[in-house]
Amino acid sequence: MAKERMLQFVKTTREMPEKRGADSRRQDFDEIYREFATIKAEEQSSRCSQCGVPYCQSHCPLHNNIPDWLRMTASGRLEEAYALSQATNTFPEICGRICPQDRLCEGNCVIEQSGHGTVTIGAVEKYITDTAWERGWVKPGTPIAERTESVGIIGAGPGGLAAADMLRRQGVQVTVYDRYDRAGGLLTYGIPGFKLEKHVVMRRVELLEQAGVQFVMNCDVGVDISFDAIRGQHDAVLIATGVYKARDLSKDSLGADGLVPALAYLTASNRKSFGDEVEAYDNGHLNAMGKRVVVIGGGDTAMDCVRTAIRQGATSVKCLYRRDRANMPGSQRETQNAEEEGVEFVWLTSPLGLVGEDHVEGVVVQRMRLGPPDASGRQSPEVIEGADYVEPADLVITALGFEPEDLPQMWNAPDLGTTRWGTVKADFRSHATNLPGVYAAGDIVRGASLVVWAIRDGREAADAIMDYLSAPSAVAAE
Ligand code: FAD
Ligand code: SF4
Ligand code: SF4
Repeated sequence: MAKERMLQFVKTTREMPEKRGADSRRQDFDEIYREFATIKAEEQSSRCSQCGVPYCQSHCPLHNNIPDWLRMTASGRLEEAYALSQATNTFPEICGRICPQDRLCEGNCVIEQSGHGTVTIGAVEKYITDTAWERGWVKPGTPIAERTESVGIIGAGPGGLAAADMLRRQGVQVTVYDRYDRAGGLLTYGIPGFKLEKHVVMRRVELLEQAGVQFVMNCDVGVDISFDAIRGQHDAVLIATGVYKARDLSKDSLGADGLVPALAYLTASNRKSFGDEVEAYDNGHLNAMGKRVVVIGGGDTAMDCVRTAIRQGATSVKCLYRRDRANMPGSQRETQNAEEEGVEFVWLTSPLGLVGEDHVEGVVVQRMRLGPPDASGRQSPEVIEGADYVEPADLVITALGFEPEDLPQMWNAPDLGTTRWGTVKADFRSHATNLPGVYAAGDIVRGASLVVWAIRDGREAADAIMDYLSAPSAVAAE
């Protein structure tokens, strides 16, 4: 019966939910895609060919049961679809919004490979759980029985929160520490509202509070409380602190007024969306209004900066990237959205320095070309000598990536094992570090990565912590 409703990809073309027009998008920080109407969600789900070996599922880091929840949706069995979807994903409606689906589930959908256009997996995943919220099916994970053991989680980003949810459901006493005033990590202060509206994150945090997770906010571990004190207060600890040290331009350029790092810029903008007072925004330092903006970098963070600057009322926004469009790391979908909104991409360009005495007046730009492929097969950019020029700018935002902070030094924990890149060394399955009872998950282990990987790590680490807490010798020996 259900089978008849499926395999519609030949008759039914791929459709995404309606996208707001660029003129309207430029005026606010609301999400740009509207919700699927029920009929559309059912129709689009019915395009799935119910593969025996679903590549979409194997390329989803959470191995979501995609074909089954598509079939449920196509048959109008939405509550069952929600039950399946939330069984493997702590935040399905968040992943549905911000996963780079073209590189994960949708990029590996067989009907995409056969030229029919992928099933819109992310949009259906979002639709299922947004509907579940509307209809009151999303409930706090309150445990049936309490346990006495406690776990301290450092970092309230998606990795820490996914672990908190799994542990709390099993009755563990969970305390999450974070140096920010609001939980969510980069979901709250990094990713802009036009990709992920803030109420979507905050209702998840409230749900965890209702389930009994304790949050200790404005608590910078290593400053307000020592790592040792946290280890002393809990039976196990999870480090999920993300990566926050921004890579920058050359040292000579630092300190110039008008040159700002991406995360400071995005955090200020996100705080304004919460209605906070942000002095550096109000005095113009972190505000693009009326300015010629140049963003340096080609990843997702750069995309978020250019599109934020457009919404703040910049007079022009240009993005410099040293490779070409085909070789940029950011999502093609986001690049297209940015172009529609009025961003200009200047491919094959690299900054050489800044112009201006006290304040930035421009960027000295080198033109590049792509040379022969290196050992990895990727073409390396080469400078075209004598082709430099000055790009005028009032605000230059650097989005060149992030590195881990030096946790052993900051936390006076010289024994905590790290890799040569400064990330915390943890077993890739159990997420155990070299310190007994201490686990690590998310970007602090992987380096700058994705929300969906942080969720997976957090869930796996929670499983390993449960095994650790349940092993009689481990906790008793502490
Ligand atoms: P984080 O989300 O970074 O959370 C870490 C938390 O730890 C923070 O709240 C921080 O305050 C806290 N913390 C750090 N140090 C301490 C300390 N000493 N004491 C107490 N608390 C501490 N991924 C996607 O999948 N899709 C996207 O569209 C996307 N867009 C992005 C846009 C931007 C601008 C950025 C920067 C990243 C984006 N990412 C995206 C990546 C994604 O946000 C991260 O991979 C993910 O948030 C990592 O989760 P995490 O839990 O490891 O760390
Ligand atoms: Fe696709 Fe991400 Fe959802 Fe997995 S979690 S199905 S990769 S959108
Ligand atoms: Fe359906 Fe595509 Fe997944 Fe196959 S790969 S099960 S067609 S979504």
